[in-house]
Amino acid sequence: MAEKIILTHQKINGPDAEVIHEISGVNVFACYQCGNCSATCPAVDFMDIPPHQIMRNLQLGLVNEVLNTKTPWICLACLSCSVKCPRSLDIARVMEGCRNLILRRKYEYFNIHTLDSETRLKLPPIALIANFRKNLL
Ligand code: SF4
Ligand code: SF4
Repeated sequence: MAEKIILTHQKINGPDAEVIHEISGVNVFACYQCGNCSATCPAVDFMDIPPHQIMRNLQLGLVNEVLNTKTPWICLACLSCSVKCPRSLDIARVMEGCRNLILRRKYEYFNIHTLDSETRLKLPPIALIANFRKNLL
């Protein structure tokens, strides 16, 4: 049996939902679940939940559920979904907002100083830069 979800005003308009809204500038409540974004997404087969379900979960305040999916990281930021949305919603920015929130919460946080100097020397510069950027968020 599917897990029961209890919706409350506080959950739907909670601080995490606010953060996604602030970062992306997208009003997820304007989405009417037509599914165009998922239909056009070139990466949808690799996502655990498709873009329109990301939007639906966010409408319901299920932010943690969204952040625990791989979808925001699979997103290629190709903007195809944003172009095809009949409500002109920038879903790619929502994905970016999710990635930012994950990094802000330091999910997958990694401290480069825990690596020995030999390993650090072998890392490509982009890995080091990405790590420092994460630490700044
Ligand atoms: S295309 Fe736009 S309106 Fe349609 S499901 Fe995706 S976000 Fe919602
Ligand atoms: S921006 Fe991301 S979610 Fe949108 S169509 Fe491209 S890969 Fe899919």
